[in-house]
Amino acid sequence: MNKSTVKNPPFPKNYSTEFIVFTHGDGVWLTDRVGKRYLDFGSGIAVNALGYGKKDLAQVAAEQMGKLIHVSNLYATEPALKLSQKLVDSGPFAAVHFGNSGTEANEAALKYARLYSLRTKGEGNHRILSFTNGFHGRTLGALSSTFTPKYQDPFKPLLPGFEVCPFNDVDQLEGTLDRSFAAVIVEVIQGEGGLEKMNEEFVSALNRLSKEHDVLVIVDEIQTGLARTGSLYAYQLVGLAPDIVTLSKPLAAGLPLSATLIPERVDSLLRVGEHGTTFGGGPVTTAVALEVWKTLSDAGFIAEVGAKGEFLARNLEELKGKYPFLGRVKGDGLLRGIEVNEIDIPKVLTAAQEAGLLILRSGQNVLRLVPPLIISEDELLQGIGILDQVFKKFKEV
Ligand code: PLP
Repeated sequence: MNKSTVKNPPFPKNYSTEFIVFTHGDGVWLTDRVGKRYLDFGSGIAVNALGYGKKDLAQVAAEQMGKLIHVSNLYATEPALKLSQKLVDSGPFAAVHFGNSGTEANEAALKYARLYSLRTKGEGNHRILSFTNGFHGRTLGALSSTFTPKYQDPFKPLLPGFEVCPFNDVDQLEGTLDRSFAAVIVEVIQGEGGLEKMNEEFVSALNRLSKEHDVLVIVDEIQTGLARTGSLYAYQLVGLAPDIVTLSKPLAAGLPLSATLIPERVDSLLRVGEHGTTFGGGPVTTAVALEVWKTLSDAGFIAEVGAKGEFLARNLEELKGKYPFLGRVKGDGLLRGIEVNEIDIPKVLTAAQEAGLLILRSGQNVLRLVPPLIISEDELLQGIGILDQVFKKFKEV
């Protein structure tokens, strides 16, 4: 094996036709099968908050696997009990539904919202409102609330009752939202859709209108949640009042686990058998997540993420001064990005990868930088240095 990449493996073509084959990682570094190292500013799409090579987490998983791997949601296990209590205590929540992925967390949220609306407002008040450039997942319910034509069009017809408004447009929100809606689903910072952040007026309009019409606010914190933005939850940054919060990506530091946090007024209306999953919240993923929670919920750790995020933003601003094709620096904490105009983003991603830096795209023209939260300032500077070299090439073209 003398190449970093493999071509045309039997993976579906909705991904790619060529992949780097990674063998291991350490901290914020990944190593491929020929020994080339990459500085990772992508974290497996904002998942690997604690970085790679975590022997302590491996130990927790191995010990739990030795004791008990799975029992189903017909029964409880100690790790699931402990984790659910921590999550419920982290905000205005009464219960948590565990799942396996972000999209599943949102499916549960949408279903709970419809049940709540049916039982409090009666039939016909089932509509769901979401916003342009939001991303909530690929299964049909979550996809019906993700109004990006590229994702939706091939799969139409989608579910009835899903409506869209422009993000941050208070007038349109006021003109649309009424009692016939069960819920609004929204991201505070649009992780996949260009890193646009909710503005103050929009937050207060959403808080006011949702109360007025008894519409649940589902905050999708799958990308923003759990310290990524320099706050435990991004809704706290902007003062948004959530009813339901969905979490996933970093929750178990790379193992598949999601959580849908629901308030008492929703939980109290649910009946046995109305929703469920076989694997969600198994003892191995929740045992690992409990260990991860200790770090991600720690106030000192969260403050450090905020400070490192400011440091990264300042360095991106400096780069912007050097290259006219760079635009606004966006995001919060270590969910950061910079607009790239005139040059082809996929070419920038490829050039960065060749130079040993993994980065992501967000929306049409934003480079997204989401390193593991344990990254040091020195490593952030190394990444900025590589980006500088990459941008230099495009300046010369
Ligand atoms: N919601 C947000 C904000 C996301 O960023 C993502 C994934 O990128 C999802 C939902 C869907 O998560 P998953 O891919 O785990 O289904």
